[in-house]
Amino acid sequence: MYKATRDYAKQQDKLDELSTYRKQFHIPKDKHGNELIYLTGNSLGLQPKSTKSYIDQELEDWANLGVEGHTEAKNPWLAYHEFLTESMAKVVGAKPIEVIVMNTLTANLHFMMVSFYKPTKTRYKILIESDAFPSDKYAVESQLRHHGFDDKDGLILWKPRDGEELLRDKDLETILKEHGDNIALIMIGGVNYYTGQYFDLKKITDLGHQHGCTVGFDCAHGAGNVELNLHDSGADFAVWCTYKYLNSGPGSLAGCFVHERHAHNKNLNRFTGWWSHNKQTRFNMRHEFDVLPGAEGWQLSNPPILSMAAIKASLDMFHDVGIKKLTKKSKALTGYFEFLLKELGEGMIKIITPEHPEERGCQLSIQVLNADKTLHHKLTEAGIISDWREPDVIRCAPVPLYNSFQDVYNMVEKLKSILND
Ligand SMILES: *Cc1c(COP(=O)(O)O)cnc(C)c1O
Repeated sequence: MYKATRDYAKQQDKLDELSTYRKQFHIPKDKHGNELIYLTGNSLGLQPKSTKSYIDQELEDWANLGVEGHTEAKNPWLAYHEFLTESMAKVVGAKPIEVIVMNTLTANLHFMMVSFYKPTKTRYKILIESDAFPSDKYAVESQLRHHGFDDKDGLILWKPRDGEELLRDKDLETILKEHGDNIALIMIGGVNYYTGQYFDLKKITDLGHQHGCTVGFDCAHGAGNVELNLHDSGADFAVWCTYKYLNSGPGSLAGCFVHERHAHNKNLNRFTGWWSHNKQTRFNMRHEFDVLPGAEGWQLSNPPILSMAAIKASLDMFHDVGIKKLTKKSKALTGYFEFLLKELGEGMIKIITPEHPEERGCQLSIQVLNADKTLHHKLTEAGIISDWREPDVIRCAPVPLYNSFQDVYNMVEKLKSILND
């Protein structure tokens, strides 16, 4: 059983088989040189110390080889994205043919909707969760307008019940029973950014497909955080970024999943470029378009290698650890965080993230009674980097790769002293 003592936290860190990974990251420090308690890996993951050498390799090859680097670099640039596919597929539980690293997250969401949002006069609506990430909401609204529909009429929201924060599968079933025939696309954040609720992707996909809808997920808060099993979910597509739990640096390239069942469908409409074209004849330039099979067939451009180098550094580490060990520690660490917060007093705080470990990743969203943003300022002053959401929620993500049991213990001690002040 968990214990609310510093000694216990220290001991857990000693027993933790992943504790050595923390040393492989740059941990931000305060102005006195003390390490901060960094709990915002769900917003921007920390930098692996190895990232620099991966990027330096490409800078050096560019300096020494110029254009020849496309074929002669240590990691030839023409094929660079292929070096990422297998590990990325493992991270999200997909087959290599289903995964590609390209563009940015919201861009990928649009490109996926070009192919998988195919509205008709009667079936044109898009269903999203009511507290979807703003970018996702803006993206689907603009798709509705792009196809000539009204963005209010065309949007169906899956909402929590009055007085609740989390979404219930039952309510999704009801919506689909009533409006299923009018819904073209279901697009849900696989792990909700605000509550941390991890949805049952397979259940949602099965439901959607039964009603004739295509189903896609934004896994920005899922990739590198939970076992997504995208292939088995049966989802038509998924998109995610790599700068949150995948530690690949601000604005780095994003991931995209297209289910194997669409891999060889050349009739699927899509936006294309020379990088979606057959690799053998890509440089003949005058060939008729010949689309690549699988997710690769959605690429447009030759990609930014420096960003991919940072992704490679991170994925090599994920490959090394394995998502199973990671989620095991994640459950223990987040469970400890939850335990300590509950000790602190149910009267003062409420955790809105689901209690069941299978329905969340490492993030806990903590609602603090009568709190305002000054609480966030005080936490920051105390060396805790967390995320504030109006009106009264602190989001904290103890990331299993680099956060420790002592981080979590110290965070709750500081929160306690601020609240009792
Ligand atoms: C972080 C995040 C985004 C950000 O989109 P970018 O295109 O990478 O700027 C979008 N959607 C969700 C659900 C996110 O968590």
